[in-house]
Amino acid sequence: MDGKKLEYKGVEALKELEKLTTQAEEVQEDILKKILAQNEETDYLNKYIVGSKNVSQFKRCVPVITYKDIRPYIVRIANGEDSSLITGHPLTEMLCSSGTSAGEPKLMPSIAEDLDRRTFLYNLIMPIINQYVPGLEEGKAMFLYFVKAEMSTPCGLPARTVLTSYYKSPHFKCRAHDPFNDFTSPDQAILCYDSNQSMYCQLLAGLIHRQKVLSLGAVFASALLRAISFLERNWPNLCHDIRTGNLNATINDPGCRSAMSIMLSSPDPNLADEIEEICRCSSWKGIICHLWPNAKYIEAVVTGSMSQYIPSLKYYSDEKLPLVCTMYASSECYFGVNLKPLCDPSEVSYTMLPNMGFFEFIPLGDNRTFVMDLNEDEDEDVPQSQLVDLAHVEVGRYYELVVTTFSGLYRYRIGDVLQVTGFHNRTPQFRFICRRNVLLSIDNDKTNEEDLHKSINVAKKLLDPYNALLFEYTSYADTSSVPGHYVIYWEIIHSTSVVDEAISIDAKVLQECCIAMEEELDYIYRRCRTNDKSIGPLEIRVVKLGTFDSLMDLFIAQGASINQYKTPRCIKSKAALKLLNNNVSACYFSPRDPAWIA
Ligand code: AMP
Repeated sequence: MDGKKLEYKGVEALKELEKLTTQAEEVQEDILKKILAQNEETDYLNKYIVGSKNVSQFKRCVPVITYKDIRPYIVRIANGEDSSLITGHPLTEMLCSSGTSAGEPKLMPSIAEDLDRRTFLYNLIMPIINQYVPGLEEGKAMFLYFVKAEMSTPCGLPARTVLTSYYKSPHFKCRAHDPFNDFTSPDQAILCYDSNQSMYCQLLAGLIHRQKVLSLGAVFASALLRAISFLERNWPNLCHDIRTGNLNATINDPGCRSAMSIMLSSPDPNLADEIEEICRCSSWKGIICHLWPNAKYIEAVVTGSMSQYIPSLKYYSDEKLPLVCTMYASSECYFGVNLKPLCDPSEVSYTMLPNMGFFEFIPLGDNRTFVMDLNEDEDEDVPQSQLVDLAHVEVGRYYELVVTTFSGLYRYRIGDVLQVTGFHNRTPQFRFICRRNVLLSIDNDKTNEEDLHKSINVAKKLLDPYNALLFEYTSYADTSSVPGHYVIYWEIIHSTSVVDEAISIDAKVLQECCIAMEEELDYIYRRCRTNDKSIGPLEIRVVKLGTFDSLMDLFIAQGASINQYKTPRCIKSKAALKLLNNNVSACYFSPRDPAWIA
């Protein structure tokens, strides 16, 4: 595939999609050959294959890896060694994925042409949606996009999120006008690093164009809900700006000011009155449809951990707007698109794009029982012979995704578990099942059992001076309010007495336990808490003595084996949550933001 084909738009893009999916096997083999040719001279591949590299040697000799295996190479490049350690083309940036390793964000290598591949996938989205939602060229799209703080590696390579990289690239900034993707948000507001100012201006722009907005959304459902909560707090100021034609003085970003002053060129008291009347309503049920009456759908990722936000989105749209989930992607590689954008979120399947990278799959079984073991064997070696090619996966089976990219990842385990739901032409379609080994996730954070355990171990030491012991714990991602927050249930026993004295420990001590846990959680969690404000203060709920015994009784009554019972470290079942919440004796919140340095 050459660069030109990556530029296809509209009908041409759909034709290209048909072609690619009809020839999945050939396209995949071709991609692997090209990766091997482009990266033939790298230290990494030379370590496993001597001399010229072909597909069968690759399949026989290159091991399946996780981040810890590639990290030493990435660290060396970040410190100034040549990119040829892993890739034939120079690395242009490192992408910070939401996974973390030893508390640091994982850095994923990226080369210039990766932006073309991502743009190719983005350019497919509107042609796909247009097949189902006509007339979008007659209005605007209110998509709330944000950049995040950037870092730099010791050798000066930018280290940033994949979305920040895309919005800052010429592929986005210099895009041709597209009537199907005419954003209400000015680029200057999207590109503002201050997330409050960016949000303020993007919502203001969306309100000014409220009658023209035909679609709205954000990349993840969590961001869209954050926007609604921001609106709840800020609508009086936004209305004031519209009424007077003057932008709020707290917006001091020059880009935002210049873009918004053009939009606010004349006072519009009528529009301000309309918005005020809607926002004054005591119930915000259906607010999205009231504020944007011509919107035809909401676009956001609502699969995987984001599915927890579906009820809130349905509430704010009064169940009147379809929730559209368009794509499946990661910092390592973009993967696939949803060809049935209007389907129910529970039915979403992503058709893999065979030209994005070389995809292989670790078979996990054909029912969900394996999910129980997902936390346990992440570091186990996976024999190369087990891997299945994209075109040969079987409908109904579960697999873990493994990718090989142009930018230097070879047989890299993404950590996502997918189920094959069918085929489009010769290309499989996958339902996203879960991210391996993630217990808690509110926004971009992904906290695993080990991280949670480590943070609990640090926090529980603060109980020692009180002769108190943490007896049992579990956790829950509480998204009933915005932003959501981590809830940790603690059963505390006193070594000197059997009486429930936990409540007698000074509240300050348990608040310090909350912040001690947060300080111990990883970089992304702390960024979401401190900088993005997309996660609220961690809460410890102390439960009465005996609660975890009752929890065990409940799970055993529901069929868990008494011999193998282990306290689940994260609770999802409604009945179990009810039991825990009915036994709470006191709640404590983190008193401050954890430390975080960009
Ligand atoms: P990151 O590396 O931070 O870009 O995160 C990528 C991860 O986010 C993927 O590996 C998935 O676990 C998750 N993800 C991305 N897109 C989707 C989607 N459409 N549905 C569910 N999970 C997704």
